[in-house]
Amino acid sequence: MRSQDHDRLFLSPPHLGRHELNYVHKAIEDNWVAPAGPNIAGFEADICQATGVAHCVALTSGTAAIHLGLILLGVEPGDEVLCPSFTFVATANPIRYLGATPVFVDSEADTWNMCPHRLREAITDRISRGKKPKALLLVHLYGMPARLPELLAIAAEYNLPVLEDAAEALGSRFNGQPLGSFGTVGVFSFNGNKILTTSGGGALVTNDAALAQRARFLATQAKDEAPHYQHSEVGYNYRLSNILAGIGRGQMELLDERVKRRREIFAWYQEHLANLPGLTVALDPELLGSRANRWLTTLLLDPAATAATPETLRQHLETRNIESRPLWKPLHLQPLFATAPMYGGEICADLFARGLCLPSGTALTEADLHRVAEAVREAL
Ligand SMILES: *Cc1c(COP(=O)(O)O)cnc(C)c1O
Repeated sequence: MRSQDHDRLFLSPPHLGRHELNYVHKAIEDNWVAPAGPNIAGFEADICQATGVAHCVALTSGTAAIHLGLILLGVEPGDEVLCPSFTFVATANPIRYLGATPVFVDSEADTWNMCPHRLREAITDRISRGKKPKALLLVHLYGMPARLPELLAIAAEYNLPVLEDAAEALGSRFNGQPLGSFGTVGVFSFNGNKILTTSGGGALVTNDAALAQRARFLATQAKDEAPHYQHSEVGYNYRLSNILAGIGRGQMELLDERVKRRREIFAWYQEHLANLPGLTVALDPELLGSRANRWLTTLLLDPAATAATPETLRQHLETRNIESRPLWKPLHLQPLFATAPMYGGEICADLFARGLCLPSGTALTEADLHRVAEAVREAL
């Protein structure tokens, strides 16, 4: 960390403890530093246990996991994949890696995630134009569960396999069931800014043993059974290293604690930023049955009640050496996806125009939180 950063409050920095070092030490002592070794199997077992899914494949990133997940669901060049517009670009980039096209769907106001009505509209319209979408990619943004009962019912009705991008939602639950375990394939990220991190890393989970086996095969250069190097298919170098998996094992021991702390931070902001005109700490209340990990605490400003905008607020926080960030800019508004089909768009565009993410890292102290709240109050 640079010296002038000593009092900077970051959005969601890595939070490591002592647990990780034991696993990393052992990996180096035992010379298990390649993308094979006991930490990988251990990390995968930890993820299976935490999510209730039968099989896990540890990978180099969440993006790699989405890429392989789409391949497992049969996405090929020319296919269309349904995807929320309101998400990080890493959700949709792998659709393009495969030469397929994202079909974007607007959010709904209660969860900020994919709107079931717009999803149905998108599917029926794509079919009427002559092509049924190949798969449904769902996202639980900021750890908030999407409207799963409605969305999964529509997927079942149209026989669409579901890839669940739970990169931001490790530890979130819906009706008690961990997110990432609802789709045919689920994906987690262990990037540096996520609730748990391996510095960089990801995981793919599925209850289908054959799909998990195929993911492992594709992630290790698609080597055929042979004593020499024999290949019949394009493969990838996507397997996580045993050292990083060691960090992951140490982090997984902390999952419940980290979720608890993120939820406390959310509740703290809610209490201490209440009664500010035009400001809402969102989303509250949680939908019936959902328990969000509150990866990031987010707020919405109401332009009818305050002159402050997310950008004036962000700039003011910056003068206090506090990092904040606008909500994800919808993908249908990105130059990269200018020509992709989009269904609706007003809801996610409005969220982007009015929202901001606050520092939410689990290492924040009570004094840090007061500093953020004070700066927010000044700006309003
Ligand atoms: C972080 C993230 C990803 C990608 O994960 P990486 O591990 O950074 O590749 C994908 N989708 C969403 C919604 C994310 O937030």
